[in-house]
Amino acid sequence: MAILVCGGAGYIGSHAVHQLVSRGEEVVIIDNLQHGHRAALNPHAKFYEGDIRDYNILEKIFTENKIEAVIHFAAYIEAGESVQKPLKYFNNNVYGIQVLLEEMYKHGINKIVFSSTAAVYGEPKKIPIEETDDKTPINPYGETKLIMEKIMRWVSKANGINFVSLRYFNAAGAIEDGSIGEDHHPETHLIPLILQVPLGKRDHITIFGNDYDTPDGTCIRDYIHVIDLADAHILALEYLRKGGSSDAFNLGSGKGFSVKEMIEAAKKVTGKNIKVEIGERRPGDPAQLIASSEKAHKILGWNPKFTDVEVVIKTAWNWHKKHPNGYDD
Ligand code: UDP
Repeated sequence: MAILVCGGAGYIGSHAVHQLVSRGEEVVIIDNLQHGHRAALNPHAKFYEGDIRDYNILEKIFTENKIEAVIHFAAYIEAGESVQKPLKYFNNNVYGIQVLLEEMYKHGINKIVFSSTAAVYGEPKKIPIEETDDKTPINPYGETKLIMEKIMRWVSKANGINFVSLRYFNAAGAIEDGSIGEDHHPETHLIPLILQVPLGKRDHITIFGNDYDTPDGTCIRDYIHVIDLADAHILALEYLRKGGSSDAFNLGSGKGFSVKEMIEAAKKVTGKNIKVEIGERRPGDPAQLIASSEKAHKILGWNPKFTDVEVVIKTAWNWHKKHPNGYDD
């Protein structure tokens, strides 16, 4: 039986497909290629180009393939944009999972691993963040993911579709051979934007606010390697296969780095100077997000391998050097 990966041509999705395929899993991908890349598709996976909001294509996929479980990455992900365009986010993310779950239920598929986010917590009251902490998103993106989790919880109870929700902190890096990596248009994420400076594609990096209540005034985030994230999906799948009950898990390194610290680390990794400017705060950004991933460690047996942030940046640098224009090369 196959695993259906929704959004398998995207950044985290393509790394998860790689890990699944290398473990001998049969993989089917659906991606509308709006943000995903054809060149990121794994040649060993069967691909359907289409949108998860389209009942017809899901009907076709579930009829043509024996799908055991779904891993769902297909969603809009930019906190800043979601503040400007909330309806775009509610339509794709919330309506998307509605259609997906309806089709899964219709076809008797009872396992889903879901990409959630640290953004469900909003501005944390304590660090590190645990799964039971308050969830008060401060941007529509986080709100959509929280609503999606709530939908799954009700559907799990009523319809027996068990879910694992993985709350990612900041996904970073790329597979070590540099064959796939991060490529967003427009790019909004910190590490790729920092690395565009030493690549000569950008004159400077703008720090979004240096007046936060943090030691150096810049936002602190928990950067976790994309391969470690991908591996967590496989552990979550195994957990559901063994009959594990529906649950949510944080995925982070447990260590926080400020924007300034990330720029310093990137200077070391690239051996180049990186010009910095200070800009306004970006709406929807909490000051600090650091995960406790104890629960994923204990229950899923998840142990991240990339524990050094410079190594994480090095894998990103390797990808960007090989593909300075992303998948357009
Ligand atoms: N950031 C920044 N300059 C940039 C892009 C991001 O200072 O050009 C900051 C942003 O405010 C946040 C952190 O870097 O505090 C990580 O942002 P990113 O968009 O990579 O991930 P997010 O935390 O929004 O998921």
